[in-house]
Amino acid sequence: MLSQDYIDSYYTATAIGIGDIRRANANHRCDICVIGAGFTGVSAALHLAELGYEVILLEANRVGWGASGRNGGQLHTGQRKWQSELEELFGRTRAHELWQLAEEAKYLVKNRILKHSIQCDYKPGLLHTAYKKSDVQDYKSEVIKLRQDYHYHQIRYVPREEVSEMLGTDIYHGGTLDNGAGHLHPLNYVLGLARAAREAGVVIYENSPVLEFSQTEPVKIKTQKATVIADYAVLACNGYLDKLNQNMAAQIMPINNFIIATEPLGEQGARQLIRDDVAVADSKFVVDYYRLSADKRLLFGGGENYSSKFPANIAEFVRPVMLKVYPQLKKTKIDYAWGGTLAITLNRLPSFGKLQSNIFYAQGFSGQGVCLTTLAGKLIAEAVSGTAERFDIMAELPSPEFPGGTLLRYPGLVAGMLYYSLKDKL
Ligand SMILES: Cc1cc2nc3c(=O)[nH]c(=O)nc-3n(C[C@H](O)[C@H](O)[C@H](O)COP(=O)(O)OP(=O)(O)OC[C@H]3O[C@@H](n4cnc5c(N)ncnc54)[C@H](O)[C@@H]3O)c2cc1C
Repeated sequence: MLSQDYIDSYYTATAIGIGDIRRANANHRCDICVIGAGFTGVSAALHLAELGYEVILLEANRVGWGASGRNGGQLHTGQRKWQSELEELFGRTRAHELWQLAEEAKYLVKNRILKHSIQCDYKPGLLHTAYKKSDVQDYKSEVIKLRQDYHYHQIRYVPREEVSEMLGTDIYHGGTLDNGAGHLHPLNYVLGLARAAREAGVVIYENSPVLEFSQTEPVKIKTQKATVIADYAVLACNGYLDKLNQNMAAQIMPINNFIIATEPLGEQGARQLIRDDVAVADSKFVVDYYRLSADKRLLFGGGENYSSKFPANIAEFVRPVMLKVYPQLKKTKIDYAWGGTLAITLNRLPSFGKLQSNIFYAQGFSGQGVCLTTLAGKLIAEAVSGTAERFDIMAELPSPEFPGGTLLRYPGLVAGMLYYSLKDKL
């Protein structure tokens, strides 16, 4: 059962403008009903309203209650796979198209922040760090490829000594610094986007879980107390989709990831950990990702699990991972600890598609949704209004089902994930 309010997290404690709740409790008619108010759903609703459609957005809990309001806030460059891999898989032309879309995604987030004056502490800079010596050559090659073939000059290779100076730890073998990427307060970003959506005319109903929808024209969407009839529906439920649609569920796997926030460290203490206030993500299979908050805490994400439950003590689950990077924080208090559920796909590329001509979806952003989801909403809006070329580029990415389907996929996934996370430890 989905809980009805926000979880206890650093983001909730510092959220701006969590407004009054309106629940769906009557029968409604609209052009488009969007289900799920994370980045994807809110962005789709906003872009559709800007195109002149009447939009209702239904959220089971609160705006940004899911992964969008709980994540590491890292705004990445590119798709979840490197350009060299995309070229190998899909050829150079398609890899370039995917790159262009990802660049637009980053631009779109920054542009929305400016346009709607969203107070989400955006800061530029993302340092990817090589956890293993053998990662270094791959990092160097990808930087050369991006600079030469994609004319992307905001990234550079950072040698080991410089990474140590930047991070106050010497566990890494090198890294890449990407000044086109960055980090932000994700809950405040999605709340700001939702405010813009409301201003554009979107009606948002929270605490209104959709129980079922019909695959008909128009679509009939049922919550406990309301029915929405809509010409189009957009499904944006991601890791929280559960059993709402079995076909979509088979393409994704919900997994849980966890974050802790230290007590405030002061300007000097914080800069001793991350000198230039950039976001950091390492190259492990279960990625360590961290950054400073606006009030100079270390927000450290690391550790995941693959069950329906979170660990009983999340702080103690993540703390040892943080101490491996920063043993000097041994005595530092942990003020917040929380987890969230994200949807991964088998190939880690997002899964976009249509259940039928008037029902669209985008899901499975696999740990890289902060950037790509706002664009996903825009591409859905374009497709609904009849220009589907760019949506189709994403929809044509293969979305294989997890072996074993929705019932039996867990044992295989758990074995696979544990194998790779064990390799991290070795
Ligand atoms: C701990 C953690 C750290 C992460 N760190 C990063 C990061 O640093 N960078 C990055 O790029 N990505 C990161 N991610 C991934 C990123 O958060 C997601 O890819 C992104 O938020 C997905 O957005 P979304 O809108 O598709 O889904 P969500 O934000 O999960 O939204 C789905 C919404 O649908 C609602 N919903 C579900 N079912 C129903 C229903 N039946 N009726 C109505 N509403 C429903 C849910 O309540 C939820 O609010 C992280 C994820 C987690 C969990």
